[in-house]
Amino acid sequence: MYRSFSEFGISDEILTSISDMGFEEPTLIQKLAIPIALRGRDIIGQAQTGTGKTAAFGIPIIEQGVKIKSKNPYAIILDPTRELAVQVAQELNKIGVRKGIRSLPVYGGQYIEVQIKSLHKGVDIIVGTPGRVIDHIRRKTLILKDIKIVVLDEADEMLNMGFIEDIEKIFKEIPAKRQTMLFSATMPKEILRIARNYMNKPEQVGVDAAEMVVAKIKQAFYEVKEEDKINALTRLLDVEVPSLTLVFCHTKREVDEVSGKLQQMGYSAGAIHGGFTQSHRDEMMHKFKNGDIDILVATDVAARGLDIPDISHVINYSIPQDPESYINRIGRTGRAGKSGIAITFVTPREYRQLRLIEKFAKTLISKAKLPTKEQVKKAREKEISSSLEELINEGKHTNYYPLANRLFEKYSPEDVSAAALSMLFGEAEVEDIEEEVTYPASRKDFVRLFMTVGKIDKIKVGDIVKSISAEAGIPARKIGSIALFDKFSFVEVPANLADKVIVAINNSMMKGRKVRIQHAKKKER
Ligand code: ADP
Ligand code: MG
Repeated sequence: MYRSFSEFGISDEILTSISDMGFEEPTLIQKLAIPIALRGRDIIGQAQTGTGKTAAFGIPIIEQGVKIKSKNPYAIILDPTRELAVQVAQELNKIGVRKGIRSLPVYGGQYIEVQIKSLHKGVDIIVGTPGRVIDHIRRKTLILKDIKIVVLDEADEMLNMGFIEDIEKIFKEIPAKRQTMLFSATMPKEILRIARNYMNKPEQVGVDAAEMVVAKIKQAFYEVKEEDKINALTRLLDVEVPSLTLVFCHTKREVDEVSGKLQQMGYSAGAIHGGFTQSHRDEMMHKFKNGDIDILVATDVAARGLDIPDISHVINYSIPQDPESYINRIGRTGRAGKSGIAITFVTPREYRQLRLIEKFAKTLISKAKLPTKEQVKKAREKEISSSLEELINEGKHTNYYPLANRLFEKYSPEDVSAAALSMLFGEAEVEDIEEEVTYPASRKDFVRLFMTVGKIDKIKVGDIVKSISAEAGIPARKIGSIALFDKFSFVEVPANLADKVIVAINNSMMKGRKVRIQHAKKKER
């Protein structure tokens, strides 16, 4: 396999641009896809968000464009959202700058006249959302007859957003003799159907899930009760001092609540979700990118596919509903080589879900302890001292000298300054968080047991939980995942309790059946 960009045999101008962009070596998907794409072959590429798919198709498009450039656009890239279209066009413009190859984003929401003007001037690569592209085709402001390369970028998202018919319409306008590429984070069946209908013997390359969870992301979970989450969040923000933090919630309402509370407590936080207008969302994104706000609270949908380089922390305020969404969320940090931290809050009821995510995302999420009250206090005091120091050094406080002196006639300097601090920063108390030690630290600490009862015995998950907790005296929340098959089942229990469970359950009765239980042999999956 190729190891460096120069081994692809692409032009020096492009190599220089890539190096200006700070790319040192190709990512795995780039190593796999670029050589195939350069040969003009159709390609299906799968790799998680943040793995550099844009350049994987962008570099070959620009390299080939040098030969096939024409008056009309020679390549078109379809993307699901306006943000992505803009991002992709920017990246292509960077790669192509020394070749004089221009790309233009076209998307809904921007005045169409502005785009028509730019199109008129001549553009080599179109990056568009499907709806707006069709709009331009109808107005004949976009001519696709010279298109040689088509890319469906973030194809799974486009399907999720219902763009399939639009995409099919666009394909009708594009000459059959072309190169078609499809890139996606996941590969639902529907995508393969599109591939069959619109692609010519595509080569498929992919980066497996285990490699997708970018190794550079440190993953941890905290055990927190629902009502303690906001305090847990602020403790982490105070002590870890993240650069930019993205906080994920399930619902719009939760996003509003959490961002509102953070603002009340003096954090510089913003919110985005589907309920806001596009222009509000743009403004928030912009502020976040520039560091005008440090914390962005978002729903999955609103944060999809976005590439913000400096996010140091992703916090799952509510646990993601499935492993895919977990990977997508945490992929917002640790972008291209940087390290990142992904934190998940887990309530006692969600513990099993966490383990499922771990299993299917093929990753380990280890348990961490929240910063103590003492640590939080220290961190806050440090922060306050340094802002006071800054103010004193700038000398902006001197107008208050006379007032200070008058107050000192009545009160001690200690009282006056402490009162001023408490007025500014509120009570110095750090809220209590009830900490229970209930979960084992990692899936590694579980063992699987094999039981000789299953579905045909009319056994349900609840029966197994009940009988283990009753017979072995183990709280239900300590029992891991349970898999029921027809004639047998598997149950995960903390390793240190396994013997206790075996002794208690073996030869006991469950739904009128005698149960045998033992350590499971090797994993079946
Ligand atoms: P994806 O489409 O897979 O989600 P992007 O193409 O948006 O990922 O790339 C994510 C980030 O990584 C971008 O900021 C991009 O500029 C950067 N990037 C891409 N390729 C490389 C590379 N080879 N080295 C360093 N950074 C890269
Ligand atoms: Mg992408």
